[in-house]
Amino acid sequence: MTTHQSPAALSSSRPAAVPVTVAFGDGIGPEIMKASLKVLLAAGASLAVEPIELGERVYRAGHSAGIGPDAWDSLKRTKVLYKAPITTPQGGGYKSLNVTIRKTLGLFANVRPCTAYHPFVSTLHPAMDVVIVRENEEDLYAGIEHRQTDEVYQCLKLVSQPGTERIVRYAFEYARANGRGKVTCFSKDNIMKLTDGLFHRVFDAIGKDYPDIAKEHMIIDIGAAKLAADPGRFDVIVTSNLYGDIVSDIAAEVAGSVGLAPSANIGSSAAMFEAIHGSAPDIAGRDVANPSGLLLAGVMMLVHIGQARVAELVHNAWLTAVEEGVRTADMGGTGAALGTDAFADAVIARLGRRPQTLQPASYGDGRAIDVPEPVRAARADKALVGVDVFVDAPGVRPAALASSLAPAGAEVFDLAMITNRGVKVWPEGHDETFLTDHWRCRFMAKPGLSPNKAMVAGLLRRLAQAGVDFVKTEQLYTFDGEPGFSLGQGQ
Ligand code: NAD
Repeated sequence: MTTHQSPAALSSSRPAAVPVTVAFGDGIGPEIMKASLKVLLAAGASLAVEPIELGERVYRAGHSAGIGPDAWDSLKRTKVLYKAPITTPQGGGYKSLNVTIRKTLGLFANVRPCTAYHPFVSTLHPAMDVVIVRENEEDLYAGIEHRQTDEVYQCLKLVSQPGTERIVRYAFEYARANGRGKVTCFSKDNIMKLTDGLFHRVFDAIGKDYPDIAKEHMIIDIGAAKLAADPGRFDVIVTSNLYGDIVSDIAAEVAGSVGLAPSANIGSSAAMFEAIHGSAPDIAGRDVANPSGLLLAGVMMLVHIGQARVAELVHNAWLTAVEEGVRTADMGGTGAALGTDAFADAVIARLGRRPQTLQPASYGDGRAIDVPEPVRAARADKALVGVDVFVDAPGVRPAALASSLAPAGAEVFDLAMITNRGVKVWPEGHDETFLTDHWRCRFMAKPGLSPNKAMVAGLLRRLAQAGVDFVKTEQLYTFDGEPGFSLGQGQ
């Protein structure tokens, strides 16, 4: 039975207006933001909108990240950004606005619900209802890259214990707050035993605090394949930055709802809500764009700022509209397509109704998810045991390189191993191994000797005197006796 709940009925308990920074964006941005705000406000959302300018005009005015000082002031005051898509100008010298905002405000969690709306929006997987929780600040996205030799470039993958703890706990808290029964962790710890191994270990450890929620771990490759083939088996997925970037696009595509999907970027003191699509300049200004992704992002924002009942009202009105065939041109289906503004009016006309076929939205007494600051573990007993010296040496054979390096170890270090692109080539390499100009040469302290940094400097001085072109060093430590470094492949 259809239940009716008047938005006006909410007004008596309407909370004080919550200041929210709103960016109308570029392309279709202004149209879909206007339409989305119209629906949210009609439903009784209590928002004090602070409009700011972000995006193309700001980039062209000389702000390299597309955001100016006034916008920062507003954002730092309200701590909530409702953002329409922006256009990134073509050409060099422009920084990603989203990455800048995420990093500056410490938005560590990207939350992307990917839902199928079968049979109203075409999908390969009618039962799909997955939320991807992606770590947003670390991993290969730390942006630390170097060219080290003619042939080899490097990108550092950084994974921290507190950063992992925060995202994993967020995923479990999200599952609990949203009545979801399972959290799956994706990592590649069979290969990256230290970085991804940490992610997996933290997942197992934090998971123990959530006995009410089922947990599983999958290697990312098979996990992504299963997500594409059988997404109904997943509920909440937590993963690191790069994997999350990829699987969240797969999930939205597989659900068939790329144009409808919202996303939230959450930090401990600020949050940003947006659609996942771009500014669609090809259809800008024509009143044909679909406001759904941004509207559903607005629903996530309302839950975040403590207006869950209004969020539920809007979401259920939208689901009802979708079931009743209300659509914009991009949604497929038959019947007349509505324009952006008329679509918003059609949702407003259904406020107070709940869907009959689709699963109604329910946010309970919804709240911003609060993740405690990670507990910092006591510092481990850290001991220097050796050093990896990375060397630029084109066209040499491993044995010849070893002979030229080994004497530099002197009384302190033994040359223990040389690898090329991670594969051990000395001692006892294989002639078939493909070689580049980039070598990792592992010097281990002689037995019984505890080296110090001065001894590492001495090693480097001797290598320089021998004409070795070292391009980087990496100290090898044990932590409470456990090696803090990986072995070479084949070692
Ligand atoms: P896009 O998502 O803007 O458009 C891809 C296709 O989808 C287009 O055909 C477009 O018409 C259609 N489309 C997108 N949103 C729609 C909607 N709401 N209703 C109906 N149709 C819709 O991707 P793009 O063309 O690759 O990028 C355009 C611009 O958007 C670029 O400058 C890009 O940098 C930017 N962008 C911004 C964000 C953001 O602000 N978060 C995200 C992605 C892309």
